[in-house]
Amino acid sequence: MQNYDVIVVGAGLIGAACADALTRRGLRVLVLERGMAGGGTTAAGMGHLVVMDSPPAEFALTAYSLEVWREIVPHLPEDGEDDPCGTLWVAEDEDEMAHAKGQARSFATRAVRAELLDARGLSQLEPSLRTGFVGGLFLPDDRVIYPPAVTRFFLQRAIRHGAQVRERVEVRSIESTRPGCMAVHTATGRIGTGQVVNAAGAFAPALTPGLPIEPRKGHLVITDRYPGLVRHQMVELGYVKSAHAGSGASVAMNIQPRRTGQILIGSSREYVGWDSSINREVRGRMLARAAHYVPALRELSAIRTWIGFRPSTADKLPLIGEWEPGLTIAAGHEGLGITTASGTAALIADLLTGATPAIDPVPYHPRREMPHDA
Ligand SMILES: Cc1cc2nc3c(=O)[nH]c(=O)nc-3n(C[C@H](O)[C@H](O)[C@H](O)COP(=O)(O)OP(=O)(O)OC[C@H]3O[C@@H](n4cnc5c(N)ncnc54)[C@H](O)[C@@H]3O)c2cc1C
Repeated sequence: MQNYDVIVVGAGLIGAACADALTRRGLRVLVLERGMAGGGTTAAGMGHLVVMDSPPAEFALTAYSLEVWREIVPHLPEDGEDDPCGTLWVAEDEDEMAHAKGQARSFATRAVRAELLDARGLSQLEPSLRTGFVGGLFLPDDRVIYPPAVTRFFLQRAIRHGAQVRERVEVRSIESTRPGCMAVHTATGRIGTGQVVNAAGAFAPALTPGLPIEPRKGHLVITDRYPGLVRHQMVELGYVKSAHAGSGASVAMNIQPRRTGQILIGSSREYVGWDSSINREVRGRMLARAAHYVPALRELSAIRTWIGFRPSTADKLPLIGEWEPGLTIAAGHEGLGITTASGTAALIADLLTGATPAIDPVPYHPRREMPHDA
């Protein structure tokens, strides 16, 4: 007799959202987290919930996730810092504006609200931007949350539905004991379960060798409080190019107003293994890029810089689904794991309960073929 239907390994936003969704389907869930819940990459991210228009599988998961988030956010506590500020994609030149127009057409066919802006409309909407930009695209239904607090919210709701959550318990290995039975090993012994969900983020391959996930380092800088200076989450239209760039370090303008009045400035991407040092050159480029868009940032006081490791896959899509009987993966969400936590959790709950998923899970299958030249 097993005490649990599912053991979720890792209590980042992904594991916590899965625990919440699984307990709401009536499953008995145990969450094991080796550190503090929400203290991994989840604590290092920006908290931007954003719909991406392509590739199709990224659109499907982000759009579905935003739909699920809209049901969740009314229940968030104050410290979840839900801010429906929308995303402002900024076009620096005509090429980027053409890209924005293509995105607007693509969103229109898929019932996602998106508003094209000319230069004047852009500065009216976001006066902190310097003049001279060609225009932009505004997505009013995107939003921002505070991921560590939302992680706690999911876990507390799961606990109310009967889940158990144990922090500072490291899972050392996962094994299949016999058909239909799994076990995880910790320092204090073996725990039996029907299913295991590996939601250990960038560390997931340490427990499931062969999982195609690599750490992709990113820097963020936070300023002191300047309420009202920046009104919207802003991203440059070159961001997607930068996110999908090859092995070199890339930076792109990504500026976020926090409910505290602070401004969060990102972002960078580097494949440097687990090197957690601050790369001053990359940080400098990132701040210069942000100030190129919002010149007032040059005068502000930055109070902290940190880094985080995105769990990256070669095709930039997450790994969601069965790896082997009894072991399901919910990891590899790269730079969109805050956005897609809600949709991932709903998919995982569907897959583990035999329900029909709202979107096709095949593109996220953990054993899909990966591109070799990414
Ligand atoms: C700079 C930066 C900015 C970002 N901005 C955004 C954004 O604006 N929007 C967005 O959608 N995404 C963003 N992301 C991406 C997002 O933060 C991640 O995709 C997401 O946090 C991944 O969540 P996770 O739960 O998979 O991983 P984690 O949060 O890392 O959770 C995994 C957990 O597993 C635990 N664990 C690991 N191994 C074990 C073990 N053996 N036993 C027990 N527990 C274990 C870890 O301690 C950790 O708590 C950003 C990322 C970075 C780095």
